[in-house]
Parts: sequence; C-alpha cells; structure tokens
Amino acid sequence: MRYPESLLKLSRALARLPGVGPKTAQKLALFLAFHKEEAEGLREALEGLKALGVCQACGNLAEGALCPICQDEGRDRRTIAVVETVADLYALERSGEFRGLYHVLGGALNPLEGIGPQALNLEGLFRRLQGVEEVVLATSMTVEGEATALYLAEELKKRGVRVSRPAYGLPVGGSLEYADEVTLGKALEGRRPL
Ligand SMILES: [Zn+2]
Repeated sequence: MRYPESLLKLSRALARLPGVGPKTAQKLALFLAFHKEEAEGLREALEGLKALGVCQACGNLAEGALCPICQDEGRDRRTIAVVETVADLYALERSGEFRGLYHVLGGALNPLEGIGPQALNLEGLFRRLQGVEEVVLATSMTVEGEATALYLAEELKKRGVRVSRPAYGLPVGGSLEYADEVTLGKALEGRRPL
C-alpha cells in the first residue's frame, strides 16, 4: 500500500534516531498524526534546539556563550573533571558527587581511527588551567579512555597540575554514561592520584 508522503517522511526521520527501529518509527509517526497537541509540543521542543550550542569554556551544551555549570558561581573552580562526551558529563552530574567544573573532550584518543590529540578539545583545556589545582581524568575505562587519561596525565603534570583518576567500580570497557549514580559517586570519591 501507499502511505501518505508526510507520514513516510516522519517515519524515516524517526527511524534515524538511536534505538528506534522502523516499526517503532512508524508507530510513533502514526501516534503523532492522530495527536496534534503532542506533535505541536514536539515541534516546539525541536525548534528550541536551534538555539543550543556549545559552551565556549568547557564544551558542554549551552544556550549562550557559557553553559549553566560554568555560569554557576557555587561550583568549585579549582577542580576540573575531564570527560569524553556530554552524556558522560550528565552521568557525573546525576551522581551529585562532583562540585567542580567539567571539560568535554569530544571523544578519546584512537590512533587506529586517526583520532589524535589534535582531534580532541585539548588546547581548550590547557588554556583553562589558571587557578586549577586538580584535574580528574574521568574518561571511560576502555583502551582508548585509558590511553587518553595517560596522555593527559603527562601533559597536565608538565603544566604543574595535580591529576587523579576515579578509582574503582567503573564499568571496565564501558562508558560512564551507563554507570549508575552510586557507582559513579563512589568512583569519584575514591579517585587516586595518577
Ligand atoms: Zn561550560
């Protein structure tokens, strides 16, 4: 059978989202076709995304020049946690254990895929070290995350900054994003110097 073009277009767009297969995409598209209020709410929310950019200081998502965390006067500016992605930053925030600032690298070192230091947001980090006493290397417990942490530890020590790594309980081979809050909180609490 032939589907209406607008329904097809929406289904295809939804099917490109992570975790949404073609069946779910069609189900969602049909739902929205019959629920105009929800569809309108979604349209407005998507429209709002256009104003979302990247924080000039840390690489987190921001609606202006700086993200809400960098703007927050109550955060401890002597400590920076380095993470691979914004999803990892959100995971650490959910743990409620960390009160410092963040720095989002935008990935991890992966020579096999041609991701070297110049491909990551490293210079931005080195420029922020004024007044920083400790950098927590909260990259993931993968080969790439470990390599990134070691590389950064060397570079940061050269610049006279104390470096630590969350200690235990983090998922080995996994991303922070999938760790529960208690585990992340404990891992941060028990961080050890590198
Ligand atoms: Zn920021």
